[in-house]
Amino acid sequence: MTAIDARQSNALIDERIKRLHAHGIVDLHFDLPMDLYEKRARSDVLRADFLADMRAGDIGVLGAAIYIEERYLVDSALRVGLDQVSRLYAEVEQSNEFAICRTHQEIVAAPEEGKIALLIALEGVEPLGDDPDLLRVFYELGVRLIGLTHARPNAAGSGGIFAPSGSSPKGLTPFGRELVRECERLGIIVDLAHINPAGFEEVVGLTTKPLVVSHTNTRRFYDIERNVSDEQIKMIGQRRGVIGVNSVLVSPRKEEATLDRYIDHIEHVAGLIGIDGVGIGFDFFEFIYAAWPEDKRQALAAKLAPPHFIPELRNHSHAPNVTRRLIERGFSDEQIEKILFRNWMRILRELL
Ligand SMILES: [Zn+2]
Repeated sequence: MTAIDARQSNALIDERIKRLHAHGIVDLHFDLPMDLYEKRARSDVLRADFLADMRAGDIGVLGAAIYIEERYLVDSALRVGLDQVSRLYAEVEQSNEFAICRTHQEIVAAPEEGKIALLIALEGVEPLGDDPDLLRVFYELGVRLIGLTHARPNAAGSGGIFAPSGSSPKGLTPFGRELVRECERLGIIVDLAHINPAGFEEVVGLTTKPLVVSHTNTRRFYDIERNVSDEQIKMIGQRRGVIGVNSVLVSPRKEEATLDRYIDHIEHVAGLIGIDGVGIGFDFFEFIYAAWPEDKRQALAAKLAPPHFIPELRNHSHAPNVTRRLIERGFSDEQIEKILFRNWMRILRELL
């Protein structure tokens, strides 16, 4: 290929990416509310710290996950959870570039007003303590996606650990089971990210609607109980669910944490349950991790696992790199649209 040919084919790919991003990308997991809470002394954080990257990456819908850091447990979990919701609403109001959405209709309407749709999620039910009535409160505040646990155990159940085995053999607690049933009744999407294998199976048995894993990787390439096994992927497929592929746990080896390995995870899920079962759950958190002091980073590495950030996939502005690599790997436009947008939109349409 001559230099001119290469430039022309590059321009064609750029055009194709632009076309594929016309509806906006759906990323169902981002630790946004906790960061807004930690930066509560500032204002207009959403615009100053995030908007440019999200616009550059054509992000259309974002799962904004409330997470309670260890130091607030257990006594302040509810207050900090509510404060995170409050910060999110205040920031959205100030920026005028986002819309907090509770229904599929609102999600569809957001881009028509030029806004990025936010879906509030809970990553771990610690803010509820062990009080099932509080679920209704968070529902009324707009929470539409709930994962019962992070890696640590709580009143609802236990998380999968960052090792090939050794998670709690126990499933959900009676409180956890009650929450799952109530989520389905209210119209909150149950998220299987992080839950331990026993809890995963139990949720599958307790529910009837499509199930999702908002952000995870496959054990095929990173064999830890926090990720999903082939068997679990098939369970999601049987329920017409979707698995969002995570950017931070693609490989235990730093040198293998590459964009191609990210696509390998997508291909693996699609190979097992079809292209309709795979979506995006980037889980970008390098900006949070980078701001931590060294001892906190080491504690995370010791307790969970050292994250290996993919050089070309570290924040939302890098989303077009995924699309480009999908094109280079031979995915069709129809397949790419499903991965980036249509599969999650089907779930949101059916469940919200
Ligand atoms: Zn997570």
